[in-house]
Amino acid sequence: MSGHAVVIAGGGPTGLMLAGELALAGVDVAVVERRPSQELAGSRAGGLHARTIEIFDMRGIADRFLSQGQKAQVAGFAGTQLDISDFPTRHNYGLGLWQNHIERILAGWVRELRVPIHYGSEVTGFAQDDTGVDVQLSDGRSLRADYLVGCDGGRSLIRKAAGIEFPGWEPTTSSLIAEVEMAEAPQLGVRRDALGVHAFGREEYEVRDGKVVFKDVGPIRVMVTEAHVGRTREPTLRDLSEALVTVYGTDYGIHSPTWITRFTDMTRQAAAYRDRRVLLAGDAAHVHSPVGGQGLNTGVQDAVNLGWKLARVVHRAAPESLLDSYHAERHPVAARVLRNTMAQVALMRVDDRIEALRDTVSELLGMDEPRKRFAAMMSGLDVHYDLGEGHPLLGRRMPDLDLVTASGPLRLFTLLHHARPVLLNLGEPGGVAIAPWGDRVQTIDAKYVGAWELPAIGAVAAPTGVLIRPDGYVAWVGDRTDTGLTDALTTWFGPPAAA
Ligand SMILES: Cc1cc2nc3c(=O)[nH]c(=O)nc-3n(C[C@H](O)[C@H](O)[C@H](O)COP(=O)(O)OP(=O)(O)OC[C@H]3O[C@@H](n4cnc5c(N)ncnc54)[C@H](O)[C@@H]3O)c2cc1C
Repeated sequence: MSGHAVVIAGGGPTGLMLAGELALAGVDVAVVERRPSQELAGSRAGGLHARTIEIFDMRGIADRFLSQGQKAQVAGFAGTQLDISDFPTRHNYGLGLWQNHIERILAGWVRELRVPIHYGSEVTGFAQDDTGVDVQLSDGRSLRADYLVGCDGGRSLIRKAAGIEFPGWEPTTSSLIAEVEMAEAPQLGVRRDALGVHAFGREEYEVRDGKVVFKDVGPIRVMVTEAHVGRTREPTLRDLSEALVTVYGTDYGIHSPTWITRFTDMTRQAAAYRDRRVLLAGDAAHVHSPVGGQGLNTGVQDAVNLGWKLARVVHRAAPESLLDSYHAERHPVAARVLRNTMAQVALMRVDDRIEALRDTVSELLGMDEPRKRFAAMMSGLDVHYDLGEGHPLLGRRMPDLDLVTASGPLRLFTLLHHARPVLLNLGEPGGVAIAPWGDRVQTIDAKYVGAWELPAIGAVAAPTGVLIRPDGYVAWVGDRTDTGLTDALTTWFGPPAAA
């Protein structure tokens, strides 16, 4: 039986991101992925929100995604577009890029970090004891790991085998989504009727003046709401044909599907993100309607929250209790996503009264303050971990400041490329001494003369020092003194090293 410190079940976006984060922290990690390769049947998620782009930027890989996608204002709520171009971030937009490309780019990064990905292999069960987890694979082999992370999607075997409850709500709508050829050309675009929302598009498109312009050729991407909810068997071309005839009166002569799948608004969340040595992240921990495009983004951000914490525990540099902060911080974030998707699904219903309500909400979202609040939520820029009372930056994302250091200009995110914590001293050079943590936390003396502004919050007081966790969230804010710094360093990065 071979072993790794961490085994990740599932090499989708969440598993890949977690693998990268653990590898950056020097953890021996392996991914077990059921698919024979990274190829994805179907394009699935349509892109990235601003916070996820920022996270990739923190790791120095944002350009790999930006160069292949289409920048656009993608944040929206129940069909109302929310422009974030005035937000104080370098990435004040979203990125249209299909999930198969996102996964290909992430897998390339993970390969560069030399993480083994065992394709065509499935986790079939596990047994955990006090010192580790035996992970059984479909080929009869087993792997020993200190920790197992289930990034194995909404039907997660890891979650079920761990006996973790998945409470929530049954679906109220069901849609087929597919990529097919058609004998007759349908009119591309969205249609709403008594059944729901339907759409024709093409996988290849460009964004021109903020509008999606589909290419003239290529397979058609279909989304059609089904008349009945609750079908569970894999959808067929015949199911798709019937659904199209019900809505459009014709199936446009569909043939040659590359993929057909079903999605619903089933809404559930794992009651616990951890059971001793087994953890859950991404869709394994939360499922909801794709409206608003938040699933992949939330999973990637789960991975970034968990990665550095799990690495510290694996390296025995922190107690296991550090892992409890993963559930404490990420469960409320996904609970909020579940809530906003349920609200959006309700608002998208086709009914004159609901339509009146949607128009009313849309009118409200046209006002500046509600627009900013909702846009910050949908783009992931408003995530706030409860780290206690204090400066508004505490528990929020650190902005990518343009710093000036003794050796020249420096973008703050550059300091996070290796996923190491940073103490940013903006006061007197050498004014903050943290020698007992010097082996774990890099200290940077810098000047910053620009504005301090947070999305949806606005201007905040300029701090004199900031402790930034490897996930880019602020763990301590200094205001001319270093009160609380020792506590924050000890909480997140362990006790001071002996002199
Ligand atoms: C139509 C549609 C549109 C969407 N649009 C968006 C969007 O625009 N933006 C967005 O953020 N999200 C969107 N989503 C959601 C997004 O696709 C998911 O949230 C995302 O894929 C979750 O990533 P994950 O890695 O957690 O899980 P998955 O992508 O499901 O990956 C799980 C992986 O685990 C593997 N696996 C499963 N079981 C095992 C096992 N036992 N052993 C080994 N491997 C296993 C699977 O093969 C898979 O590769 C959309 C979803 C749908 C259906």
